[in-house]
Amino acid sequence: MTFATLGLIEPLLRALETLGYQTPTPVQAQAIPAVLAGRDLMAAAQTGTGKTAGFALPLLQLLTLEGPKVAANSARALILCPTRELAEQVHASVAEYAQHLPLTTYAVYGGVSINPQMMKLRKGVDILVATPGRLIDLFRQNALKLNQLQTLVLDEADRMLDLGFSEELANIYRMLPKKRQTLLFSATFSDDIRLLAGQMLNDPLSIEVSPRNVAANTVKQWVVPVDKKRKPELFVHLMRKGRWKQVLVFAKTRNGVDALVDKLQGLGVNADGIHGDKPQATRQRALDRFKASEVQILVATDVAARGLDIEDLPLVVNFDLPIVAEDYIHRIGRTGRAGNTGEAISLVCADEVNMLSAIEMLTRQTLTRKMEPDFEPEHRVPDTDASGQVVKKPKKPKKPKASGGGSKRNLGKWVDSGDVAPAEPSIKPVRKVPVFNTGPRKKK
Ligand code: AMP
Repeated sequence: MTFATLGLIEPLLRALETLGYQTPTPVQAQAIPAVLAGRDLMAAAQTGTGKTAGFALPLLQLLTLEGPKVAANSARALILCPTRELAEQVHASVAEYAQHLPLTTYAVYGGVSINPQMMKLRKGVDILVATPGRLIDLFRQNALKLNQLQTLVLDEADRMLDLGFSEELANIYRMLPKKRQTLLFSATFSDDIRLLAGQMLNDPLSIEVSPRNVAANTVKQWVVPVDKKRKPELFVHLMRKGRWKQVLVFAKTRNGVDALVDKLQGLGVNADGIHGDKPQATRQRALDRFKASEVQILVATDVAARGLDIEDLPLVVNFDLPIVAEDYIHRIGRTGRAGNTGEAISLVCADEVNMLSAIEMLTRQTLTRKMEPDFEPEHRVPDTDASGQVVKKPKKPKKPKASGGGSKRNLGKWVDSGDVAPAEPSIKPVRKVPVFNTGPRKKK
């Protein structure tokens, strides 16, 4: 199969040739004809599967061939993204695909001045990429009208709900024309996403190109058990031992990011951090420098977890496990993209055992544990498995006091907890996504 056989027009084929895309990926092969035929879409696609081109290419084609010219302060297609970084990245891809088409594209998001965005929108844009909050601001200030909208794309829809955008999405939904095409993309599909889809989509075609909630199998994953307080030391040790060149590291909190960056910089390591407290320009600069290999280690909160496309990223390290199990899939999806192989290492302390269990249950696999000599934890991480069970070690029968002897530990070896007998799930993934259309915006 080729892009030409999917019915794409010549200017798009030319752009794809320049980009070196030869064959459509599975999500593209399914999405492109369906979108061209005007269908609504509910697509479950892993990160790195080429889903951006899956919706952008047919969208660009429809906008080129159908519909009136864009009016002032209007957009003909809207792509909603959860984060500023993702909005920038999606916009960059759309602009590349559109390079030979007479269409205008633009991205708007918060954290930067709204005035230039309002000016830019005066003439109207064919495709607007936006984060929900800024979109609503622009709409309320009459800088944007949505009555000309032909197509709405919800990219990383589950992430938008996770970030607490359910109320914004409900508001945007009320601003949209009833007659439109809607494409919903999400790497993972929770029940709340299905509820959202039920409200927003009209007789959607479901596309599922990978098993539900399974991480890319090109990523080799393992866990290193360690005591919480020794994580920074272990990180530096592993970095030196493995001669890590380009690593994306996830920490749970903004303070955690700053502390690790400070430690690494103090050791002369070329490290930088991104999180929600930093100005947008600083975040983007750190990301650009990391992508250009000018920064060796980028430490981030989950703001960087999804959608970011970093070419040939070999390694992701979870310095802390994510609180939301689905985020694990998105984090490690930054590596092993477009068919490359990658590694994902998680430093796990005893406090995080429930998170580990939720991740294993979600990804339906027991993560291999690899003890690092000299870093074996004093606080043992209880065994877990893909059933969601945290296995408490049976208490040893008391020994007579006089017999002495120490406890045996498995040091310096691969310890695979997969031999634990499966049991009924007792631990659910640790959080519940907010229900669409209810509740205040959650702070992250
Ligand atoms: P995405 O999942 O949309 O973030 O895309 C992941 C990466 O795959 C991006 O670097 C794209 O440029 C690349 N890509 C998307 N489609 C193709 C294709 N058909 N052939 C080669 N690379 C592709």
